Amino acid sequence: MAVRKILRVGDPRLRKVSEPIPENELGSKEIKKLVRDMFDTMEAAEGLGLAAPQIGVLKRIVVVGFDRSGRYPDVQDGIEKQVLINPEIEILGKEKLGFWEGCLSVPDMRGYVERVRHIRMKWYDEKGDFYDQEIQGFDAVVYQHECDHLDGVLYVDRLKDPRLFGYNEELDSAADEPNRVAV
Ligand code: ZN
Repeated sequence: MAVRKILRVGDPRLRKVSEPIPENELGSKEIKKLVRDMFDTMEAAEGLGLAAPQIGVLKRIVVVGFDRSGRYPDVQDGIEKQVLINPEIEILGKEKLGFWEGCLSVPDMRGYVERVRHIRMKWYDEKGDFYDQEIQGFDAVVYQHECDHLDGVLYVDRLKDPRLFGYNEELDSAADEPNRVAV
């Protein structure tokens, strides 16, 4: 078990474009170890996704998955564990979904972001298996949030309105505001 330090917004590494994993490194011990560390780190922080640059590794790897998180109590079903290496996203349809997103690199805060609700994604896992799937709804939102990290983009760049952003504590006590995950 190796829990790595999570970088916070302001660290320039979070703003870099990460490098693809060469095909001959898929399935390597180094990649498997990195993926294990990423799951350990994500679970220790009670996150629902983590991208490698968030632990200072500028490679195109994302892990997602949680049963149910205290950070997203309104999400009933959780997300299946998945390792996304060199993910590519294709947008399907214009319809958008809005959520109050949080990020382990922007602790204790959240902001309202709209993203497309239906995407097609292609990726490899840590064993080198290839996936090509359509993904919808909350899962699609999480995948887009995490893949943004690989291009140095944070959810705060995509706020629907800069005023729809703040500390969890303040937002929770603002009675009229929609809080937590809202559609
Ligand atoms: Zn994030």
